Amino acid sequence: LPDRSEDVGKTPLKVTKGRVVFDDVQFEYRPNEPVLKGMSFTAEPGQMTALVGPSGGGKSTIFNPLLQFYQAPHGTITIDGQHIGTVTRSSLREHIAYVGQDIFLFRGSVRQNIAYGRLGASEEEIVAAAKAAHAHDFIMQFPSGYETPVGEHGLQLSGAQRQRISVARALIRYAPIILLDEPTASLDGESEQHVQSAVRELSRGRTTIVIAHRLYTIMNAGMIYVVDNGRVVESGTHPMLLREGNRYAEYVRLQFGEASDLTQVASGEI
Ligand code: ADP
Repeated sequence: LPDRSEDVGKTPLKVTKGRVVFDDVQFEYRPNEPVLKGMSFTAEPGQMTALVGPSGGGKSTIFNPLLQFYQAPHGTITIDGQHIGTVTRSSLREHIAYVGQDIFLFRGSVRQNIAYGRLGASEEEIVAAAKAAHAHDFIMQFPSGYETPVGEHGLQLSGAQRQRISVARALIRYAPIILLDEPTASLDGESEQHVQSAVRELSRGRTTIVIAHRLYTIMNAGMIYVVDNGRVVESGTHPMLLREGNRYAEYVRLQFGEASDLTQVASGEI
């Protein structure tokens, strides 16, 4: 049985809009080794908020206190004005879907692996989620379609296929808040397009917080926060930050090469 003792005295989270606000959040895994050092940012409803910055800056760590895997000793995190420390963990996790880099497929059929997102999902819902996640077509090419065994001893799926199964699993939950850790491993052009389309579908009309590694995602984000050394050091949209020519512009140049014409990048031509 799940341990619900930590939920005693707490109320279920009510998500109306899905605005997520971090205000001066500090966090450490080990005493006196702060990782988040006054993290403040807002993820607005219905838009994609991108977190970018150097490795080790604290981007993934943000998800830990947000999901109450750990408590932040200082600062506040609210969802639609409710302090997450006052809401039940179960309700918090009901409203938040996480799509990470390491996708867990258990031993079972493709169908079971998608339906895992919500017990009791109907066949129609499973197929609809797979279609929206750009997974239906490759699933139908498997020897037994949705009944094909995956996971341990099952059919080996490519990284991009696993990503899309994971997006379908998240879609079927209808969670209003999506946390996404984009894959860093390179996908081939076609896979990348499929994954991007799947993610676009997933984030439509929801609050999406993405740890972004891909230029395409960053360019299209409603707001970008550059995270370094445990805090936000710059924020704005892609064209705004490029014009300012500070950390973000340098980051884009370093990551995507001098060759990438930044004026083209700014106008969304690449
Ligand atoms: P980013 O996502 O920006 O690459 P992380 O949040 O993964 O950064 O890491 C920030 C810092 O926290 C790093 O110094 C990392 O080594 C440390 N860290 C991350 N996860 C843990 C953990 N589970 N236990 C201890 N330290 C961690």
